[in-house]
Amino acid sequence: MTQSATIPAQPAYSEAARKVIGRKPQLFINGDWVDSSHDALIEVEDPSSGKVIAHVVDASGKDVERAVAAARSAFDDGRWSNMPPMERERIMIRLADLLHDHADELAELEAIDNGKPKGIATVVDIPAAISEIRYMAGWAGKLTGETAAPYAMPGEQVFGYTVREPVGVCVQIVPWNFPLLMACQKIAPALAAGCTLILKPAEQTPLTALRLADLVAEAGFPAGVVNILTGYGETAGDLLVRHPDVDKVAFTGSTDVGKAIRRNATDTMKRITLELGGKSPVIVMPDADVKQAAKGAASAIFFNSGQVCVAGSRLFAHRSIFDSVLEGISTAAPRWTPRPALDPAAQMGPLVSAEQLDRVMGYIAAGKRDGASVVTGGDSPAGDGYFVNPTVLADVNPQMSVVREEIFGPVVVAQRFDDLDEVAKAANDTAYGLGAGVWTRDLSTMHKLASKIKAGTIWGNCHAAIDPALPFGGYKQSGIGREQGRQGIEPYLETKTVILQL
Ligand code: NAP
Ligand code: MG
Repeated sequence: MTQSATIPAQPAYSEAARKVIGRKPQLFINGDWVDSSHDALIEVEDPSSGKVIAHVVDASGKDVERAVAAARSAFDDGRWSNMPPMERERIMIRLADLLHDHADELAELEAIDNGKPKGIATVVDIPAAISEIRYMAGWAGKLTGETAAPYAMPGEQVFGYTVREPVGVCVQIVPWNFPLLMACQKIAPALAAGCTLILKPAEQTPLTALRLADLVAEAGFPAGVVNILTGYGETAGDLLVRHPDVDKVAFTGSTDVGKAIRRNATDTMKRITLELGGKSPVIVMPDADVKQAAKGAASAIFFNSGQVCVAGSRLFAHRSIFDSVLEGISTAAPRWTPRPALDPAAQMGPLVSAEQLDRVMGYIAAGKRDGASVVTGGDSPAGDGYFVNPTVLADVNPQMSVVREEIFGPVVVAQRFDDLDEVAKAANDTAYGLGAGVWTRDLSTMHKLASKIKAGTIWGNCHAAIDPALPFGGYKQSGIGREQGRQGIEPYLETKTVILQL
């Protein structure tokens, strides 16, 4: 199967995008754009061209202190948490409306910064970011405690009830794969709960977070409620995680960094939620609609160049249909031929960085060395950006690194199975447990697999469908806690019990 050999040039940026890209590197602290305490900058690249297009602040220790102090006083004086929930909701909805008004510009910035096609950012990232905020805004006025009749004490003499209070100052660290969506998914529950926060975008993709700061200011949040710091994880991120005035850390990213963050947040006993990596199975049962399943399996791994925590990176197809499923994926692959992010025809863009390109090509090489065969793709087309063709590897075994480790690229490993128990066991043979897709027309098979697979989300005849009202998170090493839904706001709340002697 041949793919495009060379990549066309990235089309020109719009005026609006150039304005954001060319702005002075600053931080958003206490409701203002401020200079850093030092001159260090981070280069921002366009992965479709490999060119440095902007610079942002590499936040210093002093910058971190300033941001934490701003978030701390904004929390402690109750300017946000004591505001009527109706007002908090209104300001959040205003932010969602502003994001909607700037959707086209935000989609372009995301495409330039991350490499994802602008068309995809327009229909996926930006609307999803907006709905996270709209959904959580509604919770601001619907948080309730409860009364409980005492069990071991006489009810006539004792009255007990609980109230929910915001947890305090939150540090929210996000990755580069869905920059604005991850940022909004993080800030929305914190804000609805009445918390204040410091958001740190990934070094590779800070542009939409900076634009978000403008819109936060315009929406009317009180100063210090939302602070946005660009910087490196190992420096600014680490200082934020350890800071004694921070009450909670929410992180999305790699499992290794998640483990380090959990350790580093322990001394101060911070509340912590982690959304980490995955190696999600896609299981195609013998009764499935093979055409649909193959198309779905291709999207499950090639969407966002496979840089998705729930990417369907391990395909299990029943022996009787294995060849037709692989053929279906190969037929679908040309639709995913990588193109520059601003090319209107792009369905899949480059990877985010040279580092990520090396990593993914390194895995493909390791797979080949270990004896895997390349069914389609396997190469990186010539061009200045970080492109990899959609890749399917077969003849793999469970010991290979391509089967065990998160590649985070458009690479799927395909395996055969014979029966349900065998595939459930194989699907669970991983340190991760984020998501799983099951393709079958048999209801009983669907329920059996949904029950047997150890993962936070099971998809039936679809993959990676995510909704703000439905909890999302990982079993095992894929994370701790849940985001979205009622469960998504819980980690931002403390429960206070009040017991009164009557
Ligand atoms: P990463 O290092 O986990 O980065 C995620 C975020 O954590 C970034 O904002 C990062 O800052 C920050 N960070 C890094 N070290 C930190 C520390 N010690 N303390 C506090 N914050 C810290 O992910 P990556 O390096 O960008 O990607 C590496 C691999 O992680 C990928 O290949 C992929 O396998 C996986 N990944 C998974 C997800 C997911 O959604 N599950 C997302 C992204 C990546 P910097 O910006 O400075 O790195
Ligand atoms: Mg990193």
